[in-house]
Amino acid sequence: MGSISLSHVNKSFGDVQVIPDISLEINDGEFVVFVGPSGCGKSTLLRLIAGLEDTTSGHIRLDGQDVTDAPPARRGLAMVFQSYALYPHMSVRDNIAFPLKMAKTPQAEIDRKVDYAARTLNLASYLDRKPRALSGGQRQRVAIGRAIVREPKAFLFDEPLSNLDAALRVNMRLEITELHQQLKTTMIYVTHDQVEAMTMADRIVVLNAGNVEQFGSPLDLYRKPANRFVAGFIGSPR
Ligand code: ADP
Ligand code: MG
Repeated sequence: MGSISLSHVNKSFGDVQVIPDISLEINDGEFVVFVGPSGCGKSTLLRLIAGLEDTTSGHIRLDGQDVTDAPPARRGLAMVFQSYALYPHMSVRDNIAFPLKMAKTPQAEIDRKVDYAARTLNLASYLDRKPRALSGGQRQRVAIGRAIVREPKAFLFDEPLSNLDAALRVNMRLEITELHQQLKTTMIYVTHDQVEAMTMADRIVVLNAGNVEQFGSPLDLYRKPANRFVAGFIGSPR
């Protein structure tokens, strides 16, 4: 299960309210995209859900359980970082296995989970290579593999494709949505790219200066943008 509920979440850095007051209900198994211009608070909101930042006020619940004060490791969520977060001196296998080794998982279970992730991501024949011997897309898949082995309640992606070239980005978008269809696990995907949002999401959260302008399906946003900001950002007629 992986439902995520935010209730009157506020995040301030000193006197600056980056997120004034956000309430959101994300359903188990949904693919939700947070989209908005640079600096609007997308990463901060994702980090609050992950537990990498503390909320100033408000509540975060996972599957109905209040995790507002729980450390990241207790939340059972997996952040997927850009592929440059891989360890260059470790093989693909060891990079994927890393979170399980840290958690002192038995070796047989590690092998089973790494093999499953590698098969799911078409990395089975690359397990003994080092990241530098892989393409950009393969490296990004290794970063995703490291999340899969943890069997998280939800995957949290923060602009994972922003350092890939345009053609590869289109490919990886498809791979990530296919992965979602296969795993049926909740995914939150942060991007500033409207096309990415419109093509990948079940529902989109449009953020502007820390506020939710609209939360709806791509079709809702296109047909019935809530205001000029949404219309302008999504590029729909209004
Ligand atoms: P986005 O991911 O949408 O580009 P961020 O969530 O990174 O935006 O940042 C939102 C705002 O919060 C920005 O104005 C940024 O400068 C500010 N901010 C983020 N993290 C911190 C921090 N640790 N301390 C102070 N201000 C921060
Ligand atoms: Mg960001």
